[in-house]
Amino acid sequence: MPSLDDHKYRDYTETTSQQVREFYRANHRFQTVEFGEAQRDKYLNHTYAKMGIWEALELLNTVIDESDPDTEFSQIQHCLQTSEAIRAKGHPRWFILVGLIHDLGKILCLRDEPQWAVTGDTFPVGCPYSDKIVFSEFFAANPDLNNSNYQSEFGIYHAGIGLDHVMMSWGHDEYCYQVVKNYLPAPALAIIRYHSFYPWHQDNAYSELMNDHDRKMLPSVQAFQPFDLYTKHDLPPNVEQLRPFYEELIAEFFPAQIDW
Ligand code: FE
Ligand code: FE
Repeated sequence: MPSLDDHKYRDYTETTSQQVREFYRANHRFQTVEFGEAQRDKYLNHTYAKMGIWEALELLNTVIDESDPDTEFSQIQHCLQTSEAIRAKGHPRWFILVGLIHDLGKILCLRDEPQWAVTGDTFPVGCPYSDKIVFSEFFAANPDLNNSNYQSEFGIYHAGIGLDHVMMSWGHDEYCYQVVKNYLPAPALAIIRYHSFYPWHQDNAYSELMNDHDRKMLPSVQAFQPFDLYTKHDLPPNVEQLRPFYEELIAEFFPAQIDW
């Protein structure tokens, strides 16, 4: 197993693969306010399936994330590696469950959504794009850049508005949050909703938009990151052996089926 020192995670420089670059070129061009509204209308006002959490995990397992330079494992292995690392540190059960389900929104890839509309880092739309966003130069092709309402200091928002009132670029974080929001405690929901918002939780961008609730949630979102990143080179977990523990954990928080 390689140690943390001999592998650089989230390397988005000249060495980044062409596939990851092209992913962000499309993502930054097409993630607009209008697109975000259309996706919310499409997915949040309709129920496409009734499924249990484990069933969704098995479905997720057929997805490969093209935006991720770091993992060759299947999605269910990534979920279990993350949750097992959290469990090994003795964290509360809701936190372990977040590790397991944080990427479930990637099942959107199976509904014929392009990868740029599902995975990758997220950022607010409707206000100026921070240069802390990975490959921010690709925003030059985004039509919202020409809308003066969006490009004033806080765009369509105001200082202290709170992230829950900010439209994030559409992807698996927001979709999963919307699906599970009635079942989990607030820090769990913040982790799910903002775990790909690296410009914020890693680089402090958009901090003027935060309210007191966001300030309370930020440490949980930051505490989650290493488990999501640094478990990607561990040995693959034994899915069938772990399944009974997780079925029980899921049943503690979720009904047998939820709306997707
Ligand atoms: Fe994710
Ligand atoms: Fe993840």
